[in-house]
Order: sequence, then C-alpha cells, then structure tokens
Amino acid sequence: MPERALAVDIGGTKLAAAVVDADGRVAGFVERPTPVTTDPQVLFAHLQATIAATLQAAGVAPATLCAIGVGCGGPMRYPEGRVSPLNIPAWRDFPLRARLEASYGLPVRVDNDAKAFALGEYWQGAGRGARALLGMVVSTGVGGGLVLDGQLVHGAQGNAGHIGHVIVRPGGPRCACGARGCLEAIAAGPSLARAAVRALGRGTASALRGVAPLTGEAVAAAARAGDPLALTLLAEAGRAIGQALASAAALLDLDRVVIGGGVSQAGTLLFTPLQAEVAHRARLAFTRDLTVVPAQLGRRAGVVGAAALIFQAADATVVRPGRRS
Ligand SMILES: [Zn+2]
Repeated sequence: MPERALAVDIGGTKLAAAVVDADGRVAGFVERPTPVTTDPQVLFAHLQATIAATLQAAGVAPATLCAIGVGCGGPMRYPEGRVSPLNIPAWRDFPLRARLEASYGLPVRVDNDAKAFALGEYWQGAGRGARALLGMVVSTGVGGGLVLDGQLVHGAQGNAGHIGHVIVRPGGPRCACGARGCLEAIAAGPSLARAAVRALGRGTASALRGVAPLTGEAVAAAARAGDPLALTLLAEAGRAIGQALASAAALLDLDRVVIGGGVSQAGTLLFTPLQAEVAHRARLAFTRDLTVVPAQLGRRAGVVGAAALIFQAADATVVRPGRRS
C-alpha cells in the first residue's frame, strides 16, 4: 500500500482535511467553515475535530500515517510553522507545526497555502509536466507559488511566488500591503467589489446597484448574466493578471501558469482578456510559448497541495518514517 499522509488546508473561510496517499488518491475529505473566534485554542480544537472526522471517515489511525502536510494562509515563519494568517485573527505567531507534532506524534510540514496549491497542481493537476510553473490563486487575495525544474521555490523567508504584490498600476488603488497598484488591489475579489462600488458612486448603470453584500462573487455572477460594468471589471482584472504574468514569464522563463480560486470561476470572461494581454505583452521568443490554464483540482486543490508538501518534498525538513536511519 502506498504511504498515506494527513493533509490539512486552513483558510479564512474554510478548514479542510483528508487522507491522501502517495499516488494522490484522496479519502475522508471533510470541509467545515472556519469558526469566527479570537481564541487561538478554540480554533485549534476545531481543527482537531475536523481532523478526527477525516480519520474516522477514511477509517485510518494516525499511527499508520507517514506525516502531516498543512497549507495555511500567510504570513508565517517557514519552516518553523509559526503562523499569523491575515484572514485568521485568532492565530498570531501561533506554533501550528509544534502543536500538530505534539498532538499526533507525526512529522509536520506547514507551508503557505498558495505554494501548496502550486505544488498540488504540479503533482496531480493542470501543472503536470511543466518545467517552470507558476500556480496562482485569485480569490480574497492573489497568491502564488513557483515550481521550477521540479522543485517548489521557497525564497529567503519562504515567501517566493507572491505575484499578488507585483505592481501593475503605478499610482493605482492602495493595496492592503501599503503599496499602490499591486495586482491584488485590482484583481482580488474584494478589489473587484470596491471598484464596482466606485463606479456605482459615479452613476454607472449596473445590475450590481442594490446588491448586498457586493462581493467578488456577485461581480462574477453579474458578468455571467451580461452586466456591462461587471464584464468591464473582470476584463480589467484579466488584463492586470496578464500584465503581471508577462513580466513573471520574462523573469522566470515560465512555460505554464495555472490559475485557481473563486475569481477564476468566471472562466472565459476572465481568461479571454487575460490571454490576449499575455499574447500582446510577452514578446520574447521564450515567453511566447507560455500557456495559461485553469486549475483542475477544484475544492480538493488545498488538501492535494498539502499532501504534495509531503510527497513532493525535495529536502529533509520532513523526515518520512521510511527514510529514518
Ligand atoms: Zn500589495
């Protein structure tokens, strides 16, 4: 039987867990809302309950697992696994890796959820076979991870791949990071919603008027229904992503970009302007071959990515039982 890992995906709105084997098969997938709390222990207890439900659904005892892989919102200290997710106020410098090691007696790797997403799509999804992959998540924020020459890239502090803070509109909207004109300030769901509010304030006619709450999902839904303002905003987001990708492709000699996350559910309404912008901007011989495709792993991308942190690990941060000497 192939080795099995416990895979955990921790986000601001959802906690997910599953048992994933070394061939990428998923068992016992459980997804629950992230509790709204400021108490770090309450949140950790919720995570443990989610894990217990997964182990029961998969019929697996912790002792038969080789390790725990965790994708979590950043920022964090890597590889120590002390996490301070922007969207999870209960955890500030929370020792997630140490707490999981103590609770389950297994080696644990905690990494940024967007890096895990990229590695998961490389392992089992739309990134298979890529030589130089950027995996991107466009949802509440814009995150990313790089898999170059088969290796997940970490960077000096574990944050490589933060494409959301590449600047595409100097002097543009203020970003949560403090800069202006970051990709995230234009293409993330809340940024689309803010741009819609500004346009409505200028008197632009739109089916979005009176929609509450006005979210990125509401903009995407209105675009699918043909609303001109929503279509304009999604096209603007697509062009901004395309500009960032053209720069990233030149810097890293990328051959593939995989895009997932809620905003990417808009499909061709986002991808058509995005790909046109890439074709227009990426003019070097080696960047012209870049392909940009939607993610394939859907709701399970988070847990498959978390398992990829174990099964695609290139270094000895996690010592798997079979390799102990
Ligand atoms: Zn920024």
